[in-house]
Amino acid sequence: MPIYEYKCNVCKNQFEVLVTSSASTGDIVCTKCKSPDIKKTISASSYRLNSGSSSPAGALSGCSAKSGFS
Ligand SMILES: [Zn+2]
Repeated sequence: MPIYEYKCNVCKNQFEVLVTSSASTGDIVCTKCKSPDIKKTISASSYRLNSGSSSPAGALSGCSAKSGFS
């Protein structure tokens, strides 16, 4: 299930919402001030998954590149 990050246009509160298949995004309100005036920013879950899986390989290649330079 995707987790979406929203930002409230009223109080600038940023919060994450787990969007289930049954839930409508129109029902989502700010967790702080309960305002429906919110904006979707990024999908937090997919971003974290991509960065987490690529970091071990990226660290290894970064090490070899640095040793080659010095
Ligand atoms: Zn708010």
